[in-house]
Amino acid sequence: MKLKFTYFVVFVFLLSACNSKKQADDTSEKQPNIIFIMSDDHTTQGLGVYGSRLASLDPTPNLDMIANEGMIFENCFVSNSICTPSRAAIITGQNSQLNGVLDLDGRIEAARQYLPIEMKKLGYQTAIVGKWHLKEEPAAFDYYKVLPGQGSYFDPEFRERGEKPWPKNVVQTQGHSSDKITDITLEWFKKERDPNKPFFLMHHYKAPHDDFENAPRYEDYLADTFIPEPESLYEMGNHGSVATRGKNDSLTRIIGSSVSHRNLIRNQAMNIYVDSTIHRSYREADSIRPEEYVKWTMDEEEKKYASQVYQDYLKKYLRCVKGVDDNIKRLIDYLKEEDLLDDTIIVYTGDQGFMLGEHDYIDKRWMYDESMRMPFFVRYPKKIKAGSRTDAIINNTDFAPTLIEMAGGNVPDYMQGNSFKTILETGEEPEGWQQSTYYRYWMHLAHRHQNPAHFGVRTKDHKLIFFYGKYYVDTTDPNADWDKNNWGNDFTNSTPVAWEFYDLKKDPKEMNNAYNDPAYADVIADLKKELIRLRDDLNETDEKYPHIQKVIDEHWND
Ligand code: CA
Repeated sequence: MKLKFTYFVVFVFLLSACNSKKQADDTSEKQPNIIFIMSDDHTTQGLGVYGSRLASLDPTPNLDMIANEGMIFENCFVSNSICTPSRAAIITGQNSQLNGVLDLDGRIEAARQYLPIEMKKLGYQTAIVGKWHLKEEPAAFDYYKVLPGQGSYFDPEFRERGEKPWPKNVVQTQGHSSDKITDITLEWFKKERDPNKPFFLMHHYKAPHDDFENAPRYEDYLADTFIPEPESLYEMGNHGSVATRGKNDSLTRIIGSSVSHRNLIRNQAMNIYVDSTIHRSYREADSIRPEEYVKWTMDEEEKKYASQVYQDYLKKYLRCVKGVDDNIKRLIDYLKEEDLLDDTIIVYTGDQGFMLGEHDYIDKRWMYDESMRMPFFVRYPKKIKAGSRTDAIINNTDFAPTLIEMAGGNVPDYMQGNSFKTILETGEEPEGWQQSTYYRYWMHLAHRHQNPAHFGVRTKDHKLIFFYGKYYVDTTDPNADWDKNNWGNDFTNSTPVAWEFYDLKKDPKEMNNAYNDPAYADVIADLKKELIRLRDDLNETDEKYPHIQKVIDEHWND
């Protein structure tokens, strides 16, 4: 009996070996090209297909066309809403604690640049152009020409793979970064592409990252147009908690960088109206007096001012978006001319979302939807039905597993994300597909944007956030900004602890923190269980940070 079983095992093994050989042969014939296009801080409100208040301005006709010819994801979320950690999650398929990139100082060296490594194993020619932001040389790619750090909007320098070693391999260019990045990609196609191999190209814009600088040709774009405003720019409602607003709203002038003058430490008025006598300089903000920690209310004059700043801010942002959209057309036109378009999977995303005046906030970092949601759509007419949309939950650790599987490979065990290839190809969630996603922002009160650190869980219908209000120490760089325990203000040592809960079906704009509504007690209890499960499964607990764990233990049942 035992012998028979052994024969059977050997037989099955041989059969599966034959099968996988056959599969490999099949896929090598059909391997698609892949272009992964990513902009920086391009939020869903700034794309026509996501139907926000800005959609009527038609901000992205070319991107909308690609989106409408493929599948649009309505529930794609970032695991940590800031540039470097998001990019690290995308390249490794891992969450922050496993890939080690919790903040802007993190780095991913060549041996852990897993996505291009896996693509190369599958026979792909690999390249990356534009913003990289993971500090180490992107040496796992066959070709790279990337911006150093954030890079410049105008006349950007690049570092290009070639004879000179990193980081001395500097090439100076002239013009606007969105135009240059597209030029470089088109040049790569013409000069470097190996027609005998499928290609995997990461094409990453710097735009529309702040501070927004558009190409001069967009200076008149939207100049005479009124940009629709979010109601929450003027009225906070029951959004937020004691963690974001302080007791009796005593911290509204300290927490969360603003459009209006609300935030004394950093507001958009400072950036735009630098000569204004009303705004405070950064230096002045350091000497904020305790009597100024009082509830902020917008009077009529301030409303007018906030509107003016918002109009100016949004126009600058949308001009940068326009530059990206026009350049996408150049890329698509080239693919059409070369008859490559329909053999190529085209992915578009932004590295996270962005607050465009919602709740009077600017920047990202928050777990609120405008910041946490990523635009994400995929065009590949051979496998993906045009005009499809899905509300399946995916996050940025799922991108690498999906692309590897679409290229004919198997998802490596060391990746934490899940492949959503089935969703792309059938429009259906496979059995057991994830119904929640985890979020963590680490850089407590950094960069004067003044976002308290927090983590949480989001499902299709609900969101639960825990603000623990503490620093952690970055062991990779003890001098990092976010380790400093003050900016000259006592309140930065720690901020109030609180939970927030939003019923996203009833309250998609997150205007009502319903954490204390007894009607949701059971839902919240279930979300807390899910949060524990996710933190355990993803290696995202606070074992290494006992001072944070202490806060979690003390406040878990608040
Ligand atoms: Ca970003």
